[in-house]
Amino acid sequence: MSAVTPASGTAATTDRAVAPVVDESGRVVLAAVGKRYETRRGPVDAVADVDLEVAPGEFVAIVGASGCGKSTLLRILAGFERHTSGTVEVGGAPVRGPAPERGVVFQDYGLFPWLTVAENVRFGLRQQRVPRSRARRRAAEMIEVVGLSRFADRFPGELSGGMQQRVAIARVLAGDPALLLMDEPFGALDALTRTTMQHELKRLRAESGATVLFVTHSIEEAVYLSDRVVVMAGGASHGAPGHIAEIVPVGLGDVRDVNGPEFNDLERRIAALVHES
Ligand code: ADP
Ligand code: MG
Repeated sequence: MSAVTPASGTAATTDRAVAPVVDESGRVVLAAVGKRYETRRGPVDAVADVDLEVAPGEFVAIVGASGCGKSTLLRILAGFERHTSGTVEVGGAPVRGPAPERGVVFQDYGLFPWLTVAENVRFGLRQQRVPRSRARRRAAEMIEVVGLSRFADRFPGELSGGMQQRVAIARVLAGDPALLLMDEPFGALDALTRTTMQHELKRLRAESGATVLFVTHSIEEAVYLSDRVVVMAGGASHGAPGHIAEIVPVGLGDVRDVNGPEFNDLERRIAALVHES
């Protein structure tokens, strides 16, 4: 997300106070959102009545049992699928399809195995017709940010899972997204790599100012990373469409002790919500 600078020249010539410019491009507004699949066995309501507003720069985690519609919501926001009711807006505009300002990271990295790390990161930029030299510079910069400069010419198959996920994140960040959509991005990583990636993500997010929607099965991860935790419930096997059961503000500071009493209380509360809903 690029910083917004007020037009120069105007403020200096008047005495009027200049209002701070707020970058709204990362604001998410979901109102009465529903997704109905028409299947051979009849309609399936994957999600219904989802109302959610996410402020620019906010980090929101989404938890809930399998099938409650977490991925469906992310795919709709990514523009991969169309909702069938309600309104979906990012940065004040309706979502009509995929766009680089909405970056998507899934569990299975989605890298091209026949391209090097650098080529993978440049791929999206080239598709956006970013000039070759600028794409090279931007890709190198992002590869450095995720600590993989030494591996820029390697192929994904030569890297560990954690490194591949960093490449996927570098590729998305290269597009300067206002909104990062992450669907269980660390689910396939071992515990140690996962912790490292969580720290990285916190730092990257603070630097980029992007809004993040982050689906996870780990309540600890949700409480560790986010400003609010959305608890979803329902789903086809529960006889009700997926929906938001509760939104829990985390209200912990920047430095979070996963063994602290406040942290553990929140974890327990959210776990209870996930299990009872
Ligand atoms: P989650 O990510 O929370 O596990 P999903 O968003 O993947 O849940 O799925 C939500 C519900 O929508 C599930 O009940 C699933 O079976 C249903 N669903 C997802 N995709 C389709 C599809 N293409 N056709 C029919 N039903 C689907
Ligand atoms: Mg899912």
